[in-house]
Amino acid sequence: MSTNREFLEKIRELNISCIKCLDSQMLWKNRNNNDDGLGWFIVVMCDRCNPEPYFLDYSMTSNLIINGTPIFNMDDNPDEYSIVRFPIVRKMYDFYISMKRRDF
Ligand SMILES: [Zn+2]
Repeated sequence: MSTNREFLEKIRELNISCIKCLDSQMLWKNRNNNDDGLGWFIVVMCDRCNPEPYFLDYSMTSNLIINGTPIFNMDDNPDEYSIVRFPIVRKMYDFYISMKRRDF
C-alpha cells in the first residue's frame, strides 16, 4: 500500500477533516527575519480551514505542539503532506486503535 493511500485511509478513519493542519486549526509560517525580536515565525489560522486565515502569535521556534498535535508549516508542499504528516497520523491512529481495544 502506498504511503499516500494509507495516509488518506487513516485520516478518514480518524475523522480528521483537514489534511493540512490535522484539525489543530493552526499553522506556522517563516518570517525570514527577526529584526524586531518578536520571533522567526508566526502562527496563523489554517488557510485550508479558514477562508480568511488570521495571525495568532509570534514564535521563536517552529517546533510547536498544541494538544499533542504538531503545528505544520503553512508552506508545505501539498504533494508532500502524506510524507511529512504520516508519522504523526500513524501515532494518532495507533493511539486510536489502542483506545478502541480497551474495555470500559
Ligand atoms: Zn486546517
